[in-house]
Amino acid sequence: MDTKNAKMSIVVPCYNEAESIPLLLSRITAVAADMSAVVFELIFVDDGSNDDSLAVLRSMARENPRVKYLSFSRNFGKEAALLAGLEISTGDFVAVMDADLQHPPELLPQMYAGIVEEGFDCVATKRVSRKGEPPIRSFFSKRFYRLINKISESQIVDGATDYRLMTRQMVDAVLTLKEYNRFSKGLFSWVGFSTKWIAFPNAPRVAGHTKWNFWQLFLYSLDGIVAFSVRPLAISSFFGILFCLLAIFGAIFIVVRWLIFGDPVQGWASTVCIILFVGGIQLFSAGILGQYVAKSYLETKGRPVYIVKEDNMTDTE
Ligand code: UDP
Ligand code: MG
Repeated sequence: MDTKNAKMSIVVPCYNEAESIPLLLSRITAVAADMSAVVFELIFVDDGSNDDSLAVLRSMARENPRVKYLSFSRNFGKEAALLAGLEISTGDFVAVMDADLQHPPELLPQMYAGIVEEGFDCVATKRVSRKGEPPIRSFFSKRFYRLINKISESQIVDGATDYRLMTRQMVDAVLTLKEYNRFSKGLFSWVGFSTKWIAFPNAPRVAGHTKWNFWQLFLYSLDGIVAFSVRPLAISSFFGILFCLLAIFGAIFIVVRWLIFGDPVQGWASTVCIILFVGGIQLFSAGILGQYVAKSYLETKGRPVYIVKEDNMTDTE
């Protein structure tokens, strides 16, 4: 590949990041100065922020021709922002990174070398440790990765961040996946290609605060599981079969006991427990089924993943 005038796009989803964006730009600019053989294109996707992020992006774009931005009509979520950024990126290489500087731009030269010198299609990053994370969050994250890797064909590396650099070929492959429920970590793994993992220590957010609370992360992990595995459906079938068998054996047992001992009225408490238990299992299974039905419902509606309200690419200046 001719890497003399290679172009690298950097996609940054931003939701209420007015304070972080200028800091990120200056850090990227410093890194870009050291990578003189590469032409940079910076794509900031404002995900319906309600702070000054858009104003910051507008003024940055006015001063810096490398800066492109899109602004959504409302908050569509990080996955939507990533998709929009990848779709408009034109680089031979595309990086995705968070706006809060938890993903140090200083790693870009090393990541770039991984692709052009070592021949990987993608260089992704993972955290060295979960230090600084609440223990309960680490505990559930670990369980989540173990579970999803067990029940899904796509392997998702524990501690993988959303910071990665990809070749155009891989980005185009990701863009052929048109699903509405986008779980990027899974999509990047699903498309294949060779990935080099580099580890870096956790950096704290420079400004603002995280958009994820425990409950949102929990729902996000359920989305990931539903999007990448149908195994939970098999779990409900398994319970169904198990309880049918139990019921048959139970019935035989009762009939035999009646033949031997007669039929004194007793055991209503255990009956109620069984009814409740089986009812619970049924609701649980209906819930699992419902998750998949809900997702297919959303997919079949074919709604756009995001709506752009403003950008600096269509203007004729
Ligand atoms: N983000 C976004 N839309 C959202 C939530 C987050 O574009 O609805 C962006 C956010 O601005 C940041 C990145 O996604 O650039 C990661 O978010 P955050 O730092 O809150 O997540 P954490 O690092 O805590 O996992
Ligand atoms: Mg962050």
